[in-house]
Order: sequence, then structure tokens, then C-alpha cells
Amino acid sequence: MLIDLHTHTDFSPDAKSSPEEMCARAAELGLTRFAVTDHCDCNYWLPAAEKFPDGIPEGFKDEEMCGARDYATASIKRTAELKERYPFLLCGIELGQPLQAPEAAAQILSMPELDLVIGSHHMNAGCADFYWLDYRSMDISEIHRLLERSFEEIYDMCRRADFDTLGHLTYPLRYIVGDCGIEVDMSRFGDIIREIFRTLAERGRGIEINTSGLRQKYGRTLPDREYVKLFKDCGGEILTIGSDAHCAADLAAGIPQGIDLARECGFRYVAYFEKRRAEFIKI
Ligand SMILES: [Zn+2]
Ligand SMILES: [Zn+2]
Repeated sequence: MLIDLHTHTDFSPDAKSSPEEMCARAAELGLTRFAVTDHCDCNYWLPAAEKFPDGIPEGFKDEEMCGARDYATASIKRTAELKERYPFLLCGIELGQPLQAPEAAAQILSMPELDLVIGSHHMNAGCADFYWLDYRSMDISEIHRLLERSFEEIYDMCRRADFDTLGHLTYPLRYIVGDCGIEVDMSRFGDIIREIFRTLAERGRGIEINTSGLRQKYGRTLPDREYVKLFKDCGGEILTIGSDAHCAADLAAGIPQGIDLARECGFRYVAYFEKRRAEFIKI
């Protein structure tokens, strides 16, 4: 049984394969459920020229990610069309930083085609994506402050934003620990992460096991075992699983390991969403 609820097509500026190629690969792999969840970083809703009418600021690295209004909307419409041909297909979106641009979030969330919304946090308010930050030039206290702010913003998102499952809780560790080899004292964030999980459980929302870290230097799922188990202990019931593939070759990569991890943490089901309602598959 294979299910992949977090994938990107070339409607996402940083992904490579067309929706048709992704669907053909999903059919070949025999996926039970497969969601296209292209990026919609809400703070990048407008094209760069409209976001920065006086010129793009020096050092701004995400010019190509701007314009989610156009590419995220187009992805949803295209995926909805393809559902006719591929019955396993679900129409999703990876909603980034919804509280940084609530009007943009409201617009994309109003699209009736949506089955699934992943809530993600890729950058702290006023900062660049964690992908771009130069951790090697920071001292450890600065890194801890960045992470603390990130968990505070995620907590706020979990309390106030509309989404179905929380994307890659430990996303910055992919770069800090994985790419830079800097060890982080995660124990200092235990309390806020517990609050994040309790809030999600109370609101009937889930977390995902994002398996992308397994094929990257980090070598662990996002989040890893300790947190998947903690979510269960906090009353969490909705667990989704996704590869975060940005090309057809990575589709469903690491999913069997992710399902084993879910089982080991006490989960008997993984969830998927249809028209924003959770459905469960026994594992
Ligand atoms: Zn993401
Ligand atoms: Zn993603």
C-alpha cells in the first residue's frame, strides 16, 4: 500500500515534472492515493513586479517563487481536470505562511476543488526561506532564536489558520543539521512543540511524516520518530505521509519507511483528505 500526499509538479517554480508525468508515474507505482500539493507561499502571492513596485530589494532570492496567485491557482485547476483520468488523484496545496498574508490564504482556500491543504512554515516573518540562511556564520544562540521564533509562528498558525495537516514540522533541520552539520539542542523547544501538537489534536488537524529528509543529507524524516510519537501521546490521530517529491523520480520515495515509522509510533491508520474531510487507511 503506497500513498503520497505531498508532491510538487512544475506548476511549482522549484519542481521539474509536469502533472501528467507525475500522474503517469503514480499509476505505474500503483499509488492508492496521490495528492498534488504545489506551493502557495501566501507572502509570495503577487508576482515580484507587483509585490515590489519600486524594484526588487537587493539580496531578495525568491523572485521565482513570487506569483503564487497565478501558478497555485493554475495547479489546482489542472489537477482537478486530471482527476477525471486518475481516480487516485487528490487536489491539494502546500499553503506557506498563511498568517503572513491572510487575504491570499483566504483566496486560495476558497477554491472548491481543494481536497487537502498542507500548512507549512518556510520562513519567519520578514526573513528569507530557511533554505537561504547562512547558518555557518551564526553562533548557536542565534540559530536557537531563529528556531524559537519559527516554532512560535507555527504555533500561531496551528491556532488560527485553516489547513488540514502540518507540513514538515522540523523543516529548518534539513539545512541546519543536514547540510551544515550543526547540532541543535531541540529539548529547549519541547514545551512549545507539545503545545503545537495539543492544539492540532484539539482542532482535529494532523501532522505529516515528510520523507524527503531520508533521501537528503539529514537522513531522517521531518519530523522524526520522537515527535511522531509525541504527537500520538498528545492525542493526535490524523497522520499524513508524503515524499515532498519535486520530480517524478522521487515520487513515493521513503513512503514504506514512513509507514513503518507510523506503525512503530502506535498509529494504526494513515489519513488522506477528500474535499477537506479526513479518511483513514489501515496500515
Ligand atoms: Zn515545504
Ligand atoms: Zn513541499
